[in-house]
Amino acid sequence: MKAEEALNRVNTCSAPSQLRITDIRFTDIVGAPFHSTLVKVFTNQDLVGLGEVRDLSSRTYAAMLKGRLLGEDPCHVDRIFRRIKQFGGHGRQGGGVSGIEVALWDLAGKAYGVPIYQMLGGRFRDRVRLYCDTDAARRPDGRSMGQALRERLAQGYTFLKMDTGAWQLLGRPGMLSAPLGLLEQFRQGPPAPQGSVDEKWAAFERRNRRYDLQNVPHPFTGMHFTEAGLDWLDAYVAEVRAEIGDEVPLAVDHLGHVAVEDAIRLARRLEKYHLAWLEDPVPWQYTDQYVRLQQSTAVPICTGEDMYLKESFRPLLERGGVSVIHPDVLTAGGILETKKIGDLAQEHGVAMAIHMAESPVACLAAAHVATATENVLALEFHAAGVSWWDDIVVGHDKPLVRDGHVAVSDRPGLGIDDFSDEVLREHLHPAHKELWAPTEQWDSEWAHDRTWS
Ligand SMILES: [Mg+2]
Repeated sequence: MKAEEALNRVNTCSAPSQLRITDIRFTDIVGAPFHSTLVKVFTNQDLVGLGEVRDLSSRTYAAMLKGRLLGEDPCHVDRIFRRIKQFGGHGRQGGGVSGIEVALWDLAGKAYGVPIYQMLGGRFRDRVRLYCDTDAARRPDGRSMGQALRERLAQGYTFLKMDTGAWQLLGRPGMLSAPLGLLEQFRQGPPAPQGSVDEKWAAFERRNRRYDLQNVPHPFTGMHFTEAGLDWLDAYVAEVRAEIGDEVPLAVDHLGHVAVEDAIRLARRLEKYHLAWLEDPVPWQYTDQYVRLQQSTAVPICTGEDMYLKESFRPLLERGGVSVIHPDVLTAGGILETKKIGDLAQEHGVAMAIHMAESPVACLAAAHVATATENVLALEFHAAGVSWWDDIVVGHDKPLVRDGHVAVSDRPGLGIDDFSDEVLREHLHPAHKELWAPTEQWDSEWAHDRTWS
């Protein structure tokens, strides 16, 4: 090849070594399927990186990083992430650093003209299997849930998940044992605060008491299944299996805040339905309880969607507490960290499913990881009923989901050009009514962030 010919093939749309972050802005939407905070990282070369904060989180977790990122070359993703990861945490707190990390990968890919999966090491698969989640609202019995799942099968999904657990038994006498009065609190919310003179403060107090109630760890609720409760849940899953047949994988989530002994009793009952996994039966922090549960039943045990960074997964994997790990890219620490978590799990003979309940940006970020990681079972899809879901982004072939799978393209970065402001404008979050509003208030946010001396 002549030198001149070779020069003509060099991507001149960007000069990566001179690329610098100049701005970070946000738009919040609802309904895709929950509250999503969408992120744009702007640069001095007209390249824009797209990211997203974890579902039902807060843009503040990402915005507070702006003053620490301005002027950086976004292509050095790992170095930047190691500096900002101290500002992430478990659950929604991981959403800020993870969402920014995704946008940095998108920029690096766009700067060098390479898809993200290729930068992670290349393909293990041409398309990623989705598992379609279906919640139990308005599906009061196993038959109606089974019919909903049959519709998923008709749409082409090849792997299913449903919710079932203690909360379905709350209004059914004799099915749960708990300190008297507690079940009423769960059903109706905590009692209204007494003596509050200001309705605004009363509303805050109600919200906080609700949070406290819902965040009592499982062993401390004192709630247990009765035999009648176990019979009801057993029959529920039997009815679902009668509708969908025995062959399609079926995972179960949202067991409720019952103790590990109750998870063991239920898991043993459900072994005959050959579940794909039982998800988050106890808080992930209780490694010993996971080991006990895993050794007490043949149902595969799964957790991970609220865990931040690879090191959180290590004790569960080394002790044999799970058969499936289930990180969310937007909590775990982003694209590279999730790939590392998958590879660590593989060393222990554990499969990875990926949690995802956000927009196409999160879906494609997870799909790039799943394309480039060997032990992936399936990626969650939670928006099967949202007709405008893939209209949120432009530049990718539609529909994004085909025959229950999603495929990443060979286009640079995530593989999409931009968000569709026209679509976003129709679904704005009521508390954030402006698209991509200026964020100068975060420009000077900085602290002496060292974590040792
Ligand atoms: Mg879950």
